[in-house]
Amino acid sequence: MDDRFKQELRATCRGEARFDEPMTRHTSFGVGGPADAFVLPGGLDDLRATCQLLASRDVPILPLGDGTNMLVSDAGWRGAVLCLTKGLRAISFQGEIGSAEAGASLSVFSRQCQRAGLTGLEWACSVPGTLGGALRGNAGAFGGETFDRLLSVEAIETRTGQTLLLKKEDLPHSYRRCDLPPGLLLLRGAFALAGGVPGEIEARMDEILSRRKATQPLYERNAGCIFKNPAGASAGLLIDRAGCKGLGVGGAVVSDLHANFVVNRGGATAADVLTLIERVRQRVRQHAGVELETEIRIIGETL
Ligand SMILES: Cc1cc2nc3c(=O)[nH]c(=O)nc-3n(C[C@H](O)[C@H](O)[C@H](O)COP(=O)(O)OP(=O)(O)OC[C@H]3O[C@@H](n4cnc5c(N)ncnc54)[C@H](O)[C@@H]3O)c2cc1C
Repeated sequence: MDDRFKQELRATCRGEARFDEPMTRHTSFGVGGPADAFVLPGGLDDLRATCQLLASRDVPILPLGDGTNMLVSDAGWRGAVLCLTKGLRAISFQGEIGSAEAGASLSVFSRQCQRAGLTGLEWACSVPGTLGGALRGNAGAFGGETFDRLLSVEAIETRTGQTLLLKKEDLPHSYRRCDLPPGLLLLRGAFALAGGVPGEIEARMDEILSRRKATQPLYERNAGCIFKNPAGASAGLLIDRAGCKGLGVGGAVVSDLHANFVVNRGGATAADVLTLIERVRQRVRQHAGVELETEIRIIGETL
């Protein structure tokens, strides 16, 4: 990116635009090289203008929420990261329909549903990240998933800046997967919730939170489950049985608490994590004959 383009980007975006921004600062793993540009649009108009400028120069766009489900390569991202957590995080309710912008925290949205006496998103109180990230990967936990109660999403076509409304049926989805058409950035999701008693909803949330605290390494840097559960099996159990707990490469280690988590014990590189992922995959293949598929998103040049 030349200086003239950087100036143009700064002038277009009313939010914030940074350059050569280390992605270690924006991922829960604390891993990743620099993004050429890191943009925090101040709102929808700002986002649209930024997308149009980036499209006019064919600059690749990486949408970012809280970076809790991604591994960014050590080489970083050649293009612009568009992070929605600053300017697009409004939450609103109309009767039993709850809506949130893509940059809203999923757990905050879940908590606001509880306070409004609306049930259906209790499972989400313990999942880190934004609604945009949750929609993109159909995040789920404790028997619930994002698409269960989804009605529709709003998205922006990043090449044209045009916004569109998609019904749930328009978005093919399955376990930890949503087939979003290329070039679309999610803006908002609307959910059909149901009336409930705030105290009872809160009690279910407390139970979910304490189960999570007991079983996951929440005080270490990680990106959640590395692999999807294969049909009818638990990836964590397969990894544990293949003897991978404690296995490490550089600063990346398979957690002793939950075998499907890799933690960054300090100074891990993306290459460390990727090498460890392949070792675990190979051991499980040899031990159980099962091919594990990654759940985390691997972003950028892998070198
Ligand atoms: C401790 C821990 C526990 C976790 N537990 C769970 C769990 O129980 N269940 C679960 O499903 N996940 C879990 N995760 C993973 C993660 O929290 C979820 O996948 C979450 O939904 C990701 O949201 P995010 O905002 O961080 O997404 P990011 O990591 O920022 O992005 C993830 C992907 O979505 C894309 N994306 C983000 N925003 C948009 C947008 N607006 N439009 C289009 N694409 C977008 C990104 O480009 C990227 O490909 C856990 C993670 C951690 C660290």
